[in-house]
Amino acid sequence: MATLDTLWLNANLLTMREDAPDGGPLHRVGIGARDGRIAVIGGIDALAGAIAHEVVDLDGAWVTPGLIDCHTHLVFGGDRSNEFELRLVGRSYAEIAKAGGGIRATVRATRETAEAELLAAAAGRLGRLLAEGVTTVEIKSGYGLDVSSELKMLRVATALGATGEVQVVRTLLGLHALPDEFAAAREAYVELCAGPMLDAALAAGLVDMVDAFCETIAFSTGETARVLAAARARGLPVRLHADQLSDMGAAALAAEHGALSADHLEHTGTAAVRAMAKAGTVAVLLPGAFYMLNETKRPPVAALRREGVPIAVATDANPGSSPLLSPLLALNMACVLFGLSPIEALRGMTLNAAKALGLAHDRGSLELGKRCDLAIWRIGRPAELCYWMGAAPLERRVVAGRMR
Ligand SMILES: [Zn+2]
Repeated sequence: MATLDTLWLNANLLTMREDAPDGGPLHRVGIGARDGRIAVIGGIDALAGAIAHEVVDLDGAWVTPGLIDCHTHLVFGGDRSNEFELRLVGRSYAEIAKAGGGIRATVRATRETAEAELLAAAAGRLGRLLAEGVTTVEIKSGYGLDVSSELKMLRVATALGATGEVQVVRTLLGLHALPDEFAAAREAYVELCAGPMLDAALAAGLVDMVDAFCETIAFSTGETARVLAAARARGLPVRLHADQLSDMGAAALAAEHGALSADHLEHTGTAAVRAMAKAGTVAVLLPGAFYMLNETKRPPVAALRREGVPIAVATDANPGSSPLLSPLLALNMACVLFGLSPIEALRGMTLNAAKALGLAHDRGSLELGKRCDLAIWRIGRPAELCYWMGAAPLERRVVAGRMR
């Protein structure tokens, strides 16, 4: 066996292999990395003859795949704690949005904030995710809503990944809200998103996938379809904010367009769940938004299970509906509010989150050849990761084979 870069011994692994409904635990084994990839996993037999530049005794710590937060809006100007106060005295999200608040308030703040300032604020928030084991994060634009401001957000997202501390997947979300200057020209804005904005992001090398907000307070299925088709024609994977506040047929539309994921899904019906299963579209559940908005209608978890739709869980970290910077609290909420088992929730932030980003061939489970992204936890049982609130159980992260 060629010399390993690092070998971690005496680990309890939660492998999250696809074929293991119990998460595929392996007790008191070793895991080794070479050139950033997992090169060996197993007990004494598998490790016989292994030599490593660095050997780390984990003394029974648990190791999971590094967490993948597959849906965030981490880059933005200002915050919306004022709207939080309004909602607490009975104003609805839709009402606040109609009165010029909501996403459009963050758009004004994001346009006005300098790039360096956006980067510093987002880096602080990202740090909270990393402190809870995140090694891959998806970050959306969508608070610029003009070409230069959207590119500014995507450059900030790119810079956040340039440190090597975390891998960042960048999503263009031009179709997030109608900017005020297009209030009388909806169609022109949709065309901007489907053409010049997309092409500018591609030309600058700043975009990995495309998302849209299909909702009564945002964009229709027709408008959304226009942008999804344009993205696919350019070879970009698509995703969708779907059926969060009403059933507009958005999850079915996502499936129709072969979307990697449909996200939120509180109002999604059974037929759309079947279409998602057929299309291989992942269901991304966002319990932070459900909690903050005091929703009562839950996503169709039983139907998703029955039809075999992979379920992912994410923070949806954003300044309005989900100011949640704790991936572990998102896991707890997915269990308590949506009834996921701890292993289902953990799979939702590892292997199934990788699927939602089109990266499951490369990461999301502990298997030979995959990226060696690990989260090392000081816990007695994996379920503790979903059970404690505020426990800070992370010991170390490993990103592409390197201890962080
Ligand atoms: Zn979102």
